[in-house]
Amino acid sequence: MTSAIAETDRVLTGLLGQRLVTRERDDFTAIAAVTYAADDLEPALIAQPESVRDVQEIVRTAARTGIPFAVRGRGHSFARHGTVAGGLVMDLRRMDACRIDADGRVGRASASTTTGAYTMAAAAMHLATGFGDHPDVGVPGLLLGGGIGYLSRRDGLTIDALIDAQLVLADGSVVRAAANENEDLFWGLRGGGGNFGVVTSLSMRLEHTPMVTGGLVVFEASGATVAALFEAGLHAPDALSLMINVTRGPRAPFLPEQFHGRPIVTAIMCHSGNPEEAAAALAPVRAAGKVIVDNIKVGPYPALFALAADQAGTRTVRRTGFLDSISEDDANSALELVAAAPTEVALVNLRPMGGAIARVDTGATAFAHRDRGAIATIRSIDHDPAKVIEGAEWADRTAALLRIGGAANVNFLGGDIENGAALAYPPQTLTRLREIKSRYDGDNLFRSNHNIG
Ligand SMILES: Cc1cc2nc3c(=O)[nH]c(=O)nc-3n(C[C@H](O)[C@H](O)[C@H](O)COP(=O)(O)OP(=O)(O)OC[C@H]3O[C@@H](n4cnc5c(N)ncnc54)[C@H](O)[C@@H]3O)c2cc1C
Repeated sequence: MTSAIAETDRVLTGLLGQRLVTRERDDFTAIAAVTYAADDLEPALIAQPESVRDVQEIVRTAARTGIPFAVRGRGHSFARHGTVAGGLVMDLRRMDACRIDADGRVGRASASTTTGAYTMAAAAMHLATGFGDHPDVGVPGLLLGGGIGYLSRRDGLTIDALIDAQLVLADGSVVRAAANENEDLFWGLRGGGGNFGVVTSLSMRLEHTPMVTGGLVVFEASGATVAALFEAGLHAPDALSLMINVTRGPRAPFLPEQFHGRPIVTAIMCHSGNPEEAAAALAPVRAAGKVIVDNIKVGPYPALFALAADQAGTRTVRRTGFLDSISEDDANSALELVAAAPTEVALVNLRPMGGAIARVDTGATAFAHRDRGAIATIRSIDHDPAKVIEGAEWADRTAALLRIGGAANVNFLGGDIENGAALAYPPQTLTRLREIKSRYDGDNLFRSNHNIG
């Protein structure tokens, strides 16, 4: 392997100069860092392309030398797939352009444009493409796994807005994938993750989104509240997307002190219709329990990103699956488990789907779980590695209680599981993805992902 590193270093230094970052550099550790602590996955080299041509040369070099290779957009993979021990990371952060065509209602993002930058640019023209809940995630990274967020019940998953994508394949060639061009690849990209190549740009439909009604409601801990919120989320009008958290109260000024560190239930939501419709749609949510804090406001859509927590440098363990209903008893047991969780942060996050997500056929894209009720994710987060090991046991117990497992949203999978692809893709989907993979990346160059190779 040493010779592969040396050869990669020699070729890419010639091509990129200072944009090939080596361990000797003082800023190496800072550049190598991904969102979740990855001191066990230190790469040997980091290549920072600025153009499609750079990407082509880096891909060709990695394929030729055989060095372990990872593609990194904005480093937010829960499984830490944006880095690789002793290998070469292609760090795309310098390719972050964004163009909003308001007349044509099309937005274009580059290889690592952030969801926040794109959303701000689009909001200036009262437009939006729906992404997730965090502004620092890479648009291609999120889209390749499906993409669920505050506009999904209205507009579908992020993949449902995809018009076309430009990719660099494992042989260094550049292709376009769209509904009428490389259709197999276009299908696979919509949920198949980073398995097929490096996305250098993609264009997506924009929807009129002038102001939204949204924010956070905090409730006193109660299983009945969780069950009522779950039902409200499933049966809400399409304009309302919400997520429910069973967690412990943060030590934050917005929350009365007696709830700090104690179990609470929260609902974070976005209604993208007019304010009168929003008031009616939000009524069952607000009535779900005893409200402690209600900060729902009318405002610009990107304001919702302010609710996202910064998790940089933490360690996370997660278990994720789908849930079609939740009983009051199970929700009460989840609250008890959260109260006793060993880590700094512990939560059960429920994201009802339905709406426009469910109106697309389950076989139409590689994200196939559109007929399920909600995505359920159990998270245990801490700075202390020992606590996270305890957190894994806690997460397993909580997952068993809620009977989630057997299938998963690929974007929410962690790294400490063996069978990520088998969870993310039902057998028929996985078979089709593998056929496409063998055509476009037969040697499995792109394998730092939930790999289908
Ligand atoms: C705090 C937080 C909140 C999140 N919220 C949501 C949410 O609300 N909804 C949701 O759907 N997801 C959410 N996610 C998950 C997120 O969408 C995925 O982890 C996504 O893959 C991150 O992309 P990235 O570029 O930031 O990460 P990276 O770690 O850089 O990339 C992850 C993987 O994506 C692939 N990839 C990234 N860019 C490219 C590219 N240009 N070409 C080819 N492959 C590429 C690679 O395989 C890479 O290994 C969240 C993640 C975090 C950490």
